[in-house]
Amino acid sequence: MLRTTRILPSKFGVAARTRAVTQFQRCYSSANEELDVLVIGGGPGGYVAAIKAAQAGLKTGCIEKRGSLGGTCLNVGCIPSKSLLNNSQMYHAIKTDSANRGIEVSDVKMNIAKLQEAKETSVKGLTGGIEMLFKKNKVNYYKGAGSFVSDSEVKVDPIDGGEAVTLKAKNIIIATGSEPTPFPGITIDEKKIVSSTGALALEAVPKKMVIIGGGIIGLEMGSVWSRLGSEVTVVEFQNAIGAGMDDEIAKAAQKMLTKQGIKFKLGTKVLSGAIEGDGVKVEVENVKKGDKETLDADVLLVAIGRRPYSEGLNLEAAGVEKDDKGRIIIDQEYRTNKSNIRCIGDVTFGPMLAHKAEEEGVATAEYIATGHGHVNYAAIPSVMYTHPEVAWVGQTEQQVKEAGIKYNVGKFPFAANSRAKTNLDTEGTVKFIADKETDRILGIHIIGPNAGEMIAEGVLALEYGASCEDIARTCHAHPTLSEAFKEAAMATYDKAIHF
Ligand SMILES: Cc1cc2nc3c(=O)[nH]c(=O)nc-3n(C[C@H](O)[C@H](O)[C@H](O)COP(=O)(O)OP(=O)(O)OC[C@H]3O[C@@H](n4cnc5c(N)ncnc54)[C@H](O)[C@@H]3O)c2cc1C
Repeated sequence: MLRTTRILPSKFGVAARTRAVTQFQRCYSSANEELDVLVIGGGPGGYVAAIKAAQAGLKTGCIEKRGSLGGTCLNVGCIPSKSLLNNSQMYHAIKTDSANRGIEVSDVKMNIAKLQEAKETSVKGLTGGIEMLFKKNKVNYYKGAGSFVSDSEVKVDPIDGGEAVTLKAKNIIIATGSEPTPFPGITIDEKKIVSSTGALALEAVPKKMVIIGGGIIGLEMGSVWSRLGSEVTVVEFQNAIGAGMDDEIAKAAQKMLTKQGIKFKLGTKVLSGAIEGDGVKVEVENVKKGDKETLDADVLLVAIGRRPYSEGLNLEAAGVEKDDKGRIIIDQEYRTNKSNIRCIGDVTFGPMLAHKAEEEGVATAEYIATGHGHVNYAAIPSVMYTHPEVAWVGQTEQQVKEAGIKYNVGKFPFAANSRAKTNLDTEGTVKFIADKETDRILGIHIIGPNAGEMIAEGVLALEYGASCEDIARTCHAHPTLSEAFKEAAMATYDKAIHF
């Protein structure tokens, strides 16, 4: 039988104990309840695991210290960034592209306060929605910081300063996520020198913005502020942007972003960055030539990646092990070295993506409930929500080449797609990579309008082990962008019709 205990020191009277219980009851839980599953962290990994476990009939609790559910993704990640990307693109298109379409507008202005308000509305709606889902599925929600007391007990320090409560559960899932990786020697103040969190909350358009890191977060944030009028320079140590992208697609993305006004300094190392007067001075050095220069910025964004976050968890008390990169070590079934404690999402191995964390949330709950779970790591899509979008799944051409696999490549440009032409939005290509002998799809890479939606078909194809011919012989509606997807598949094993 599972037990949830409330351990309050005896010096606290009945009133204090009642207060502690009430705090949690306010968030739909009772500290007296016995739990089968206790999740630490209410991000896409944790909240999904909690809902799935509760749906399987397990008594489930979830501890979250942020004060709102949804984790990095809903509060300071995917959702606020996509709100800004969507609305800044709308503004940019109205300003620069509407006249071509017979829409005459004048005096177009950007109201940053309203832009930020629209973002907050989306965030609040979605985080509140998860709280409703917890209620609906009877997940106990503990608003506080969790820390291990032992390998089966977790102390919760309520965020509103109430008395701590210790919960006992048969299974514990760690889903505490990640945090921005700091740049040695550069101090973030989230005003002038910002992480992605500060870059999402700027109150004015910086005249000049320097971004350290040409990965997806840096490029998305760069796109937002560049569209709103900032002079954006991206400094990247590598010779290419978009870590993880197919080389050819990354080059095309760089070209398109350059055309939109973003400057790139590739193969360039940042030496220092500090606030000086009203601005920020960023000293950089060309890796090959050794030339140094100082860049002036109103805002410096540090976007060099994210690192696993397990601060304050007191993993030592549970005896849970991490590797040298701070990732909690797990086996195939997400079990840590303590078999009753599992771990999912950004705080462990794999790509730091919300949908990957969600898949793991479902799988780990299923492992606990039924002994079986499943995530196909070969079919996790990635998307960069710039305009045009970049989306891919499976292997890149460089990976296939390195593996010595014989392969075919087929491409189809959106410039030859009827819907893209109708929409006057023709930049980009769909690229397929398939096994030369069997035609089995190895990777799909799209740069173009709506690539992030279109990649779903590619993920499904990979899941089902489809060949290019399977896709090409599947009827796609006309006129849609997805016909470019079909034609690229055709071009891989045979010839495209419209190009
Ligand atoms: C700007 C930005 C844009 C992004 N865009 C995308 C995107 O478009 N698509 C995508 O797939 N991914 C995107 N990501 C990545 C995505 O946000 C993460 O991969 C995802 O949130 C990871 O989910 P998680 O559940 O593992 O962790 P998190 O979402 O980080 O959630 C962990 C939660 O645990 C809580 N927590 C930590 N320690 C404790 C504790 N001791 N007690 C209680 N609670 C605790 C934290 O407060 C946090 O809310 C983006 C990230 C950023 C920063």
